[in-house]
Order: sequence, then C-alpha cells, then structure tokens
Amino acid sequence: MRILVVEDEKKVAGFIKKGLEEESYAVDVASDGIEGEYLASTNDYDVIILDIMLPKKNGIDVVRDLRIKGIKTQVLLLTARDTVEDKVRGLDSGADDYLSKPFAFEELVARVRALMRRKDYSLAELKFADLVLDQATRKAKRGDTVIDLTAKEYGLLEYFLRNPNKVLTRTMIAEHVWDYTFDSDTNVIDVYVNHLRNKIDKDTFKKLIHTVRGIGYILRDGEE
Ligand code: CA
Repeated sequence: MRILVVEDEKKVAGFIKKGLEEESYAVDVASDGIEGEYLASTNDYDVIILDIMLPKKNGIDVVRDLRIKGIKTQVLLLTARDTVEDKVRGLDSGADDYLSKPFAFEELVARVRALMRRKDYSLAELKFADLVLDQATRKAKRGDTVIDLTAKEYGLLEYFLRNPNKVLTRTMIAEHVWDYTFDSDTNVIDVYVNHLRNKIDKDTFKKLIHTVRGIGYILRDGEE
C-alpha cells in the first residue's frame, strides 16, 4: 500500500517515512503544497498524510482542490495548532481525519490503518485459499506452514491479497508497492515476485501466484 506524505519539516517527514516503511508501506514525500497536489493528482495513493502549514499552498487548500478534481483518496491532516476551528475547517475541506502534532507514531499508524479500513480494507487477516496473512504478526501461513517475509515481500503479498483474481500489471504493482524512486527499467518486480513465490508456492501442487505473459501477475486458485 502506497502513501504520500506532504510535510515541509524534513525531520518530521523523514521520521514518518522511515516508520511507515518499517510497516511495509511504500512512501513518497512532497515538501510543499504544490508538489503534494501534483503527486496526489498523478499517482494512485492509498492514503495521503497532509500537513496544514505548508509552503506555496496550505494543506486545507490542497485537499479542497483535490476533491474538486474528483480525487477521493483518504486524507489525514496534520497540524501544529490544535484548535476546533482548524479541525472544522480541515474536515469541511474534505479531509477524512485529523491528527495534532506532536503525535506518537503508533497513533499515526493506527489512524492510517483506520483510513485503509474505510476503503473496505479488513484488519486482522487477509485470506486466499489456504494462504493467510496475519497483519498483527506480519507472518504468512500456507496451510500449517509459517512463512517469514521481508518488508517488501509483505507489501507485495498484501497487495496481491487485496486484489485476488485480478490481473495486476507491473505498473500497478510498482504504483502500490514501490515509491517514486522506483526505476521501471529494471526487473525488480519480477525478482521480488519470484522471491515471494519461492516462499508461498514452494513444495505445493497448488500454485497461487501465476504469471500473465507480457502483462504481469495474478493471484488465482486454479489451473495455469
Ligand atoms: Ca509544516
């Protein structure tokens, strides 16, 4: 799942990015309102974390203009001023939730998860056939076999499990599992999908991750 962080304070932005990446999210950072609005308009993010006090264009104007453009991505506003007025203005502009600085990182993650849930994302376990991904322990299970995953493998498997029986192109995978530093000229996606397959589909007759030649991959329970 891919998140956009719009925050001009480098330390805060870096702290959020690092923490979310440790939670297996792909994270892009914009440092002013114009850049943030541009990235939010041109990429399909799952959640946007948007500071209110930003250079060039403030967060409230950014979220208002995104909504006018028809972009419905869940937005969590951040602000240093914890006033009722700011909160009302923020929510009126079309933001989905609000968090005052300073905040505990755990709370930020909990809010992000809650926003993902509103997009019909379930919380505890993602399941497909006999494959289960436990989002609390961050481990996968195929039948009774417990599978350890790296952060990237976890992010990739989560994306597959949220989109079963659907052909996922390399572009879609890149957009939801990698950030904007991703170099599309490489075969990184294929390499990671193969790592994941070796863990998930190894020693089993029933393969779940299938290649769609020339296009990408599909999580499917059935024949090739
Ligand atoms: Ca700021």
